Amino acid sequence: MDDCLFCKMVAREIEPDVVYENDDVLAFRDINPQAPVHVLIIPKRHISTLNDLQPADAALIGKLSLAAAAIARQEGIAEDGYRTLINTNREGGQVVFHVHMHLVGGRRMGWPPG
Ligand code: AMP
Ligand code: ZN
Repeated sequence: MDDCLFCKMVAREIEPDVVYENDDVLAFRDINPQAPVHVLIIPKRHISTLNDLQPADAALIGKLSLAAAAIARQEGIAEDGYRTLINTNREGGQVVFHVHMHLVGGRRMGWPPG
């Protein structure tokens, strides 16, 4: 998608700090980290929000979780634990409209979220 920040990262028009990549998924460090580990995991194909997911995207979305677990192991936080979340639209706090999973860890996460 032309004017999408994360599509530009997939195209490497903007160079992200990549931590993981495969044919379907790209993961890079968040520019404004909220925890010692804060990685964004995105599908390479543009999908704006979780509301736009189609049944055919089920495997692709599953791959975000598989990537999260692989990255958590890579970052050494898998056993201590971490959080994955996807923000959707205004009340969910979504500001970049290309689906992304946050992987945060390296400290104790509060619950419930603010
Ligand atoms: P969300 O609020 O769920 O849409 O999350 C968007 C995330 O993208 C925020 O955590 C931002 O810090 C992050 N972000 C925005 N611009 C960049 C960038 N150029 N590189 C890496 N992360 C970014
Ligand atoms: Zn996009």
